[in-house]
Amino acid sequence: MYVEQADRQQLQRWQEELSANHRNFVSSKLNLDLTRGKPSANQLSLADALDGILQGNYVSDEGVDTRNYGGLDGLPAMRQLAAEILGVNSDEIMVGGNSSLTLMYFSVLFAWQFGLSGPDSAWRHEETVKFLCPVPGYDRHFAICEEFGIEMVNVPMNDNGPDMDAVEALIRNDSSIKGIWCVPKYSNPAGCIYSAATIERLAGLGTIAATNFRVFYDNAYAVHDLVDKPAELANIREFCERHGTEDSVLQFGSTSKVTFAGAGVAFMAASKTNLSAMKKHLGIATIGPDKVNQLRHLKMIGTMAELRNHMARHAELLRPRFACVLKHLEENFRDSDLGEWSSPDGGYFISFDTRPGLANAVIQLAAEAGVKLTPAGATFPYGKDPDDKNIRLAPSFPTVEDIDRAMAVFCNAVKLASVNQQLEA
Ligand code: PLP
Repeated sequence: MYVEQADRQQLQRWQEELSANHRNFVSSKLNLDLTRGKPSANQLSLADALDGILQGNYVSDEGVDTRNYGGLDGLPAMRQLAAEILGVNSDEIMVGGNSSLTLMYFSVLFAWQFGLSGPDSAWRHEETVKFLCPVPGYDRHFAICEEFGIEMVNVPMNDNGPDMDAVEALIRNDSSIKGIWCVPKYSNPAGCIYSAATIERLAGLGTIAATNFRVFYDNAYAVHDLVDKPAELANIREFCERHGTEDSVLQFGSTSKVTFAGAGVAFMAASKTNLSAMKKHLGIATIGPDKVNQLRHLKMIGTMAELRNHMARHAELLRPRFACVLKHLEENFRDSDLGEWSSPDGGYFISFDTRPGLANAVIQLAAEAGVKLTPAGATFPYGKDPDDKNIRLAPSFPTVEDIDRAMAVFCNAVKLASVNQQLEA
């Protein structure tokens, strides 16, 4: 279906047909949801062995009684595992509670309030603080910025990651830019893997940025592959070492989408200077993280081999769900001028771009027919997609049957909105 080439009669015929389909969907009173980027119950069940795995033995291999207070850095073996996931040394890791988002929030809070390089470096002393936000991106990153009144500047995403020419130009010309959000592997929602050249340039930003700049490198999907031979993510720490910019990058990760999304283990990697600043303030907020949970995780997925095996089982559950979404998109839009989409090798999302100006209309049509989609604009700072075209599809949670039904509604909604727009043009 090519709406641009169609004459008015053809468009009207399509409109009648698609409207009839839409009315049928509405009358079947569906109640489907493609918004939730969270694991399905079956995925969570893969980690049910965590319950009772310690069998009353709470002492770690290093002799730590995990029931007690302390251990702000995390158990040594957990730091080692996190170090392997993020590609750093274990003494550059701090293990937190269950949420990496909390570690990101605290990092911004401490950088804002106290400074990560001494009191003079606190961002609150600045008249304006800005962050670069590759778009489309993760709404919760943007929410953190909004909370602190940090101004967000959109930067386009390419297939290789953020447009680094734009990033470098902005940073060179504006000393109030203090950070950039990055999801380097299976980015949320575009699903791309940053290229080595992009990662090297990110590592180099510390040499061109004004003081107190940090790359927030959120590697949430580091081991979340859907394919057997995934592309390797280049190691940002090695590039930082080459450029002498170790202090400019904060890395984050967690087992939220490995074990239990609400009861996993989160961690961050940073230079010793950054970590000691973090610990100084975090140590006021807590006497230590949940080490019992760390030990439970070590017993189940304590080595990279065990972790990879576990993730392969997730992939088995996720693959048919992604395949179902992609099948519908291929069948409906391969030969069309109605949309473009990502076909990721991992992560949790498929990103779909409608023709400009239609995301909101599509989401409304789908909602009328009982299919909930992530609100238009959610993938952009301040909830504003300047082209009103990006829609984030999250297939992990619903069953394949529900995805199948929801995607039929979605594809019809995209076609109908496109035809309507063309008729009004
Ligand atoms: N970072 C990204 C890019 C995510 O997509 C998500 C969850 O969807 C998170 C972080 C949340 O991580 P956590 O559960 O460790 O707080």
